[in-house]
Amino acid sequence: MEILQPWNIVFAVGFVVYVATRGKFAARTKGNESMDRRVGLQEKMLLSVVISTSLLFPIIYLLTPLFSFADYEIPDWLHVCGLVLMIVGLWLFWRSHADLGLNWSPTLETRQGHEIVNYGVYRRIRHPMYSAIWLFSIAQGLLLNNWLAGWAVVFAFAVMYFLRTPQEEKMMIDHFGNAYTDYMAETGRLFPRLRHRDSDN
Ligand code: SAH
Repeated sequence: MEILQPWNIVFAVGFVVYVATRGKFAARTKGNESMDRRVGLQEKMLLSVVISTSLLFPIIYLLTPLFSFADYEIPDWLHVCGLVLMIVGLWLFWRSHADLGLNWSPTLETRQGHEIVNYGVYRRIRHPMYSAIWLFSIAQGLLLNNWLAGWAVVFAFAVMYFLRTPQEEKMMIDHFGNAYTDYMAETGRLFPRLRHRDSDN
């Protein structure tokens, strides 16, 4: 079984931490009352494709031979790169959930009492959770040597990221107006925006 291969065990450990992190924070936001929910057909389809490729595909690959036709080999140094990306991704995934706190939701919505979070990992990046998911997905590709279990999620998440992010920013502007556009000017989408020289002291 694939799960017995050393790099697949490394992935499986990270995968459990990833799912447990999400589960822990999802449980905390259960009591939230939604104020504005923007979940149309596109969002529902994107969510189901991302959930299948990020959760179901690795489980099928690790526990059954069904995906073995899509296997390939890569050198060990690429596995090491995958491990590094996974560790950074898991740290950022945890920090972004912790910083968003009750303002987190798995879909596009704002809650009663929603506040802009612009501190912690949100200080210089406005989509650090998406940065974390990019990192974890690429790590999945590098650690599981299988086109379907490893890379399908990268394509699925890319489509979700490029379609969803502008809608999310529009929703935030609709609710918070200038406060969010000012925040956008101070932050990068996925990478930290460095301070302008003239604002340094
Ligand atoms: N795009 C962010 C958050 C993902 S969770 C990230 O990648 O880190 C999605 C929800 O988070 C959205 O529905 C929105 O309600 C909320 N959200 C996004 N950015 C926020 C911010 N800066 N402050 C508070 N809530 C935010």
